Amino acid sequence: MSSRILLASPRGYCAGVDRAVQVVEQALARWGPPVYVRHEIVHNKYVVRALEAKGAVFVDQCHQAPPGARVIFSAHGIAPDVHDEAAARHLRTIDATCPLVTKVHKEALRYAEAGYDILLIGHAGHEEVIGTMGEAPDRIHLVNGPDEAATVSVRDPDKVVWLSQTTLSVDEAMATVEALKARFPALVAPPGDDICYATQNRQQAIKEIAPHCGLVLVVGSTNSSNSRRLVEVALAAGAPDAHLIDTVSELDEAWLTGVETIGVTSGASVPEILVTQLLDHLAAQGYTDIETPSTIAEPQTFALPRSLSHG
Ligand code: SF4
Repeated sequence: MSSRILLASPRGYCAGVDRAVQVVEQALARWGPPVYVRHEIVHNKYVVRALEAKGAVFVDQCHQAPPGARVIFSAHGIAPDVHDEAAARHLRTIDATCPLVTKVHKEALRYAEAGYDILLIGHAGHEEVIGTMGEAPDRIHLVNGPDEAATVSVRDPDKVVWLSQTTLSVDEAMATVEALKARFPALVAPPGDDICYATQNRQQAIKEIAPHCGLVLVVGSTNSSNSRRLVEVALAAGAPDAHLIDTVSELDEAWLTGVETIGVTSGASVPEILVTQLLDHLAAQGYTDIETPSTIAEPQTFALPRSLSHG
């Protein structure tokens, strides 16, 4: 039996995650520990533990950091009241929100100010959704899938716009948009894609590979929305089996039984070392032939926040 790996490309770190991790590392290098970080800087356990080991202290809320402390806000974005709370506590803040999340916040604010009701397609409780909804809580209604599109209520059906979380499944989000359009024919679309380039590219790459695999392994943490979506996309694209694993230690050897071709990818918050460890392990099981069928170029990079990029 020939055993091979189809390795998705692109995979792993996106520009927003790379920037957020750099923000914490550079803050630690410049000011020394402790540097407080509100929420997991990115949704990956390995990254969070590594930064903790360097002196980052992760907290759930601003009031858990001492007055005057240096606090970094995570890549997922925050509601305006968090800025207010930080100011009241005299925290010195650095905002590592991904610029593509900030773009959605600005869209939400702009449409709210123009009198629209905003239908935000996303998952309840996700940090990004909480942050975006905080921009205009009275105007934004969360819609989690086509079923909720049937029940959401707005003030004026002729003045509605949809926006979305950046890390959704593209196909599922579009199904929700169609359901919303059926109810609100005047529904306005956002000016550009809200589902970010990294989410779309990683989904596209695994979609191409999945039909040729007996098993797809997605490296990523369970609280990572884009990683979880990769499992769903792989299954929808024809992979008979797909699993999310934080590290190779979570691999169940039984999954490999009778599998000739394994698809491998990783979420946007996953460092490549975790993929390398998985590939090394699979090589020892005979999966030594690694192919990357195609790739999508990702030239995107984001500048660091001004407080770190200037002396
Ligand atoms: Fe930004 Fe997209 Fe990466 Fe999220 S997944 S940090 S929105 S580039």
